[in-house]
Amino acid sequence: MLGLMQDWPLTVDKILDHANNWHPRQEIVTRSVEGPIVRTTYADAHDRAKRLSNVLKSLGVQPGDRVATLAWNTARHLETWYGIMGIGAVCHTLNPRLFPDQLCYIIGHAQDKVLFTDLTFVPLLARFREQMASVQHVVIMTDAEHMPDSIPGALCYETLLEQASADCEWGGFDENTAAGLCYTSGTTGNPKGVLYSHRSNFLHTLVTMTTDVMGIGGRDVILPIVPMFHANAWGIAFSGPAVGAKVVMPGMRLDGASVFELLESEQVTFSAAVPTVWQMLLNHLRETGARLSSLKRVVIGGAAVPEAILRAFQDDYGVEVSHAWGMTETSPLGTVGTPTAEVLRMSAEDQRRFQLKQGRPPLGIEMKLTDDEGRELPHDGKTYGRLKVKGPFVVREYFRGEGGDILDPQGFFDTGDVAVLDPQGYMQITDRSKDVIKSGGEWISSIEIENIAVGHPKAALAAVIGAAHPKWDERPVLLVKLKDGEAATRDDFLQYLEGKIAKWWMPDDVVFVEEIPLGATGKIDKKLIRERMKEYVLP
Ligand code: ADP
Repeated sequence: MLGLMQDWPLTVDKILDHANNWHPRQEIVTRSVEGPIVRTTYADAHDRAKRLSNVLKSLGVQPGDRVATLAWNTARHLETWYGIMGIGAVCHTLNPRLFPDQLCYIIGHAQDKVLFTDLTFVPLLARFREQMASVQHVVIMTDAEHMPDSIPGALCYETLLEQASADCEWGGFDENTAAGLCYTSGTTGNPKGVLYSHRSNFLHTLVTMTTDVMGIGGRDVILPIVPMFHANAWGIAFSGPAVGAKVVMPGMRLDGASVFELLESEQVTFSAAVPTVWQMLLNHLRETGARLSSLKRVVIGGAAVPEAILRAFQDDYGVEVSHAWGMTETSPLGTVGTPTAEVLRMSAEDQRRFQLKQGRPPLGIEMKLTDDEGRELPHDGKTYGRLKVKGPFVVREYFRGEGGDILDPQGFFDTGDVAVLDPQGYMQITDRSKDVIKSGGEWISSIEIENIAVGHPKAALAAVIGAAHPKWDERPVLLVKLKDGEAATRDDFLQYLEGKIAKWWMPDDVVFVEEIPLGATGKIDKKLIRERMKEYVLP
């Protein structure tokens, strides 16, 4: 028997409709790419997004067509998302930090029809325009006054909007219709597309709004620093309007001083970003002696939160930290470390230990650990395994079937992360499965050794990879890039690690290198390191 409740497709256009109906005067503040601070409202965003939908239709965009954005977090970018998704087209966010050949590959793979870009990326596009054969129109997100002429035939965003009508019907399609497309950064081969649906984004929005996840509400002032091209800005472009919060868009300036200025001038209460951004802000605060007068909570994810950042925020500035884990494939929220009642009863030091873990899954994420054969492993806080997840906002299959069948027989997606789960339900990432070192059938965490090794006063960067070993299969090798002007020996580093890691984890060798390559998202590029070390043999 079916229930007798209304059929109300969960499509994201309803989110901006809601903001327009019930929070029309709420502000969206943008540090524009042209420079000045621009103030608009949800009513403006709604009106302009509808105009944009009409612009797209006039450019020949049909439901299901991919429309790309190469843009910073701004009100215009927000309007673009809703304008595209509202008519059933697919918003494909491009990461400008990718290498140009990767960008061209992704645009070709997605067959993007129209591309919206900020002024910043015009020089890049001018050089590679020829290679983007599928792109019929480039729209530059600026006004007539700032319009460049380096891309032949490019259209001006504000001029198009001015000429378009705001009368446009949104929605009316199945909630499983594709809404967004985002490619993973390709640290494991060619980039693969994750195709979000309206329903998956809508449900992700409901989950992220809740108290124990991001806990945002209409009284918050939200600064999403995490870019809209990086895994949906962790959902904030949906959850902000959904709760009717004031949203402050930082544009392209993410350095400590610029972020601080916005935090204070707009009295931001909530923000989200990767650890490196927070490190820049904390450096700025230390250098200037400035204080944070309004910020209450930050979500930190994308990489593990270093203890120093956690301590600084909480102890020095009174800002609550939520450590979150997720990935493009999970929309992106997978776990968040909001303390449970049980953890809150622990000592401050123990609480911190839990905060440094990646957190617990909210409703909507099923999670398990397995060994290589798919057998489930205990949640004992010690046993390492492959981290697998399942849920309505987790990927089922990559765009165009890349990578083939990606689910296990129970329908779980292998995250590629290696983790432990503890009896309190907290997950802790210990490595990426392709980086973990398998020595004599046991797993060694490359990340844990790296994190300790990089603490050596002479080290600038450290990376650990597995090298083939006749008896143990693999043994760890530590690569170190020293700080400028420093000199050190193999034994200096091995002695430094002694007592900090298990004896059998001790690297078999230490190799000093000029460079440790970083990928497009600032993570250590182990694929490239392994390629460079192909000829290496253990001593
Ligand atoms: P990509 O996989 O393309 O690098 P993502 O942005 O989707 O891009 O990155 C997801 C990965 O980032 C996760 O699988 C995990 O390895 C890492 N990650 C994300 N959040 C955390 C965190 N809080 N702690 C440790 N690693 C994290």
